[in-house]
Amino acid sequence: MRLKDRVAIVTGAARGIGKAIGTAYVKEGAQLVIGDIQGELAKETAAELAKAGGEVRSIGVDLAEPTGGQELVDFCLREFGRVDILVNNAGIGINKRTLDFPLDEWEKVIRINLTGAFLCAQAAGREMVKQSYGKIINICSLSGQRGGIGRAAYGAAKAGLELLTKVMAVELAEQGINVNDIVPGPIATDVGRAMHDPATVEAYNFLVPQKRYGTPEEIANAAVFLASAESDYINGHSLNVDGGFGSAGLMYPLPNSKHS
Ligand code: NAP
Repeated sequence: MRLKDRVAIVTGAARGIGKAIGTAYVKEGAQLVIGDIQGELAKETAAELAKAGGEVRSIGVDLAEPTGGQELVDFCLREFGRVDILVNNAGIGINKRTLDFPLDEWEKVIRINLTGAFLCAQAAGREMVKQSYGKIINICSLSGQRGGIGRAAYGAAKAGLELLTKVMAVELAEQGINVNDIVPGPIATDVGRAMHDPATVEAYNFLVPQKRYGTPEEIANAAVFLASAESDYINGHSLNVDGGFGSAGLMYPLPNSKHS
């Protein structure tokens, strides 16, 4: 019970990685708020976790809206009276080459992946400062650390989120708040499936040194660690959970190569 009596908000936790993080947090004793644009699905997920003994609330909220982050934090304060942990997980990916990227889609991706996370962190951070305690965890992506075809908006948003992690960690360290991020490699979820056609799946299964996609539970394990007292002296850190993909250079032998 590493998160006993802690109150956690996980955004985008109706499904996928966020749901796995919420599930792990409840198992570790946290009270949980799910904030997701999929209000009905969020309700179902909350009911599922409550059945397993968790204290869970959900709210349908569009975190790409300027008021979304504050609305979510206000809801958490009404339900549980405080917020100890925030996981900025809600995100979308749109895959188009840079020269063809429409401005409205660029702005949509930046708005949810970067601006939405900033606004949630700002609203939650203001509450955490009052209690001199807080853990903020941003879910980034390897696409924010390395160039990838089609990842202009998504990669730029996630790179920005990694830098925001560091700035907030430095600004809030003396006030008892840790800000870190997790950098997933390819993870088997709906966003992963939407962004990866069969050729991409094959390429990842070759290029990732561990030769497979990660699971949402493997990201959740890292999110429990970064929310718990075990990570109290870790601040401004980007924790790659990527099967070694971020460390890899040339992978040899190449498939179909005469040397293979
Ligand atoms: P997912 O299965 O699509 O779950 C994300 C949830 O966030 C969905 O319920 C989604 O609703 C919701 N959401 C989207 N926009 C929102 C908004 N404006 N306000 C509130 N909620 C919103 O995604 P996932 O694969 O679990 O990914 C979770 C996080 O991990 C994302 O930040 C993603 O970028 C990151 N990540 C994923 C991978 C991967 O391979 N899966 C790799 C690296 C990083 P909709 O269904 O309506 O979109």
